[in-house]
Amino acid sequence: SSKKVYTPEGTFVGRSLVLATGAMGRTSSLQGESEFLGRGVSYCATCDGAFYRQKEVAVYGLNPEAVEEAQFLTKFASTVHWLTNNEPQQEDAHVQVLLSQPNVKHWNFTRLSAIQGNESGVTSILMKTRGESEATSLPVEGVFVYQSGSKPITDYIGPQIAYCENGGVKVDEMMATNVEGVWAIGDIRNTPFQQAVVAASDGCIAAMAIDRFLNQRKGIKRDWDHS
Ligand SMILES: Cc1cc2nc3c(=O)[nH]c(=O)nc-3n(C[C@H](O)[C@H](O)[C@H](O)COP(=O)(O)OP(=O)(O)OC[C@H]3O[C@@H](n4cnc5c(N)ncnc54)[C@H](O)[C@@H]3O)c2cc1C
Repeated sequence: SSKKVYTPEGTFVGRSLVLATGAMGRTSSLQGESEFLGRGVSYCATCDGAFYRQKEVAVYGLNPEAVEEAQFLTKFASTVHWLTNNEPQQEDAHVQVLLSQPNVKHWNFTRLSAIQGNESGVTSILMKTRGESEATSLPVEGVFVYQSGSKPITDYIGPQIAYCENGGVKVDEMMATNVEGVWAIGDIRNTPFQQAVVAASDGCIAAMAIDRFLNQRKGIKRDWDHS
């Protein structure tokens, strides 16, 4: 059956459809976050961590992504200031490893109130620790925000397809969803490594699978197989 997509530019109809709306579903909510995005504010330590060699950075968040990314940043930053609104689970092995790093300073029960800077980028954050009346300024050059994780953008699909427990669209090894003719690629799958090369690879797999699907070619002979 044909697939129909409604957009402000018009309605598109096709035999196959690729969902690739990414995972930037969380809107910027912190003061200064959108202003300094790409100029000190980042959501990806793997992508931007190396820019902060021997610099002070802050990581804000308590979810597993925040813990993993903070750990990654310890390889580069002089100090990783880890801010958590609540107490991390002390029995979590990843938390224990992170807190044992000599260049990690944990600010427990601490809320990030604002990200500040100038035309060159982030210079400091304002943070408020529970029980203290005044916010404190902390000089940092990078702020990595993992407040609620990156959220796959799927609101326009609703319950029409199946999802994984983590909110990503569920696909098989060909990137096909549970709906025939519909594929999903990239960050919308909530892949463990949200990287451009992973999304591009997904796209390649889906494109080849769709070619098979549209042309009803079941037995494809690999071009290096000359038997
Ligand atoms: C700040 C930042 C820095 C990064 N740096 C790197 C890096 O250095 N190296 C690296 O490999 N990766 C990096 N990444 C990760 C990389 O950008 C993603 O993994 C990759 O872009 C995912 O590709 P995608 O096609 O799945 O989604 P996206 O690139 O997010 O594309 C999704 C597209 O869908 C559009 N869209 C969303 N909703 C709708 C809708 N309802 N209708 C129509 N269109 C819609 C969006 O506007 C967007 O254009 C970075 C990510 C961020 C946020």
